[in-house]
Amino acid sequence: MAGAGRGRLCPVCLRPARDGGCVEHGPWAPHQLATIDDRRAAGRGSWLPFEPLMHACPRCLGEVAEGRHGWECVESAHGRDPHGPYRVDELLGIAGQRNGAACRERFARRARVRQRSGPQLPALPAIDAARLWRLIAAATVLAATVAFLSR
Ligand SMILES: [Zn+2]
Ligand SMILES: [Zn+2]
Repeated sequence: MAGAGRGRLCPVCLRPARDGGCVEHGPWAPHQLATIDDRRAAGRGSWLPFEPLMHACPRCLGEVAEGRHGWECVESAHGRDPHGPYRVDELLGIAGQRNGAACRERFARRARVRQRSGPQLPALPAIDAARLWRLIAAATVLAATVAFLSR
């Protein structure tokens, strides 16, 4: 349990969990919380289409297997930071997995956009949206002008 207690993010929405809880997705045990690394890994993946499992590792939505100490994440078992072990009620059910996959897909999409446009600050998506709207507005005005002039 090398990385236990390091996680600070809600495993469903990957937003910072205050005092171990997420307003939307309920309280979590410390070892259920996702880490920044988990979120980064989620950003590298592709989450759609998503096939939920009966139970999944809350940190990576991966397969779990029953071990000596409880349910352990198969994918991370031999890594530096193994996920779990979890009690069966600490695993993510189907609804939580679907929700988690949708949120992870959002991170992944943002990461892909970021990759295409080079290194950016984490705060940029909000600014991007505003800039996008300005661009759309400008393009609309331009299109209207062109339409007016070509008449
Ligand atoms: Zn949450
Ligand atoms: Zn896992």
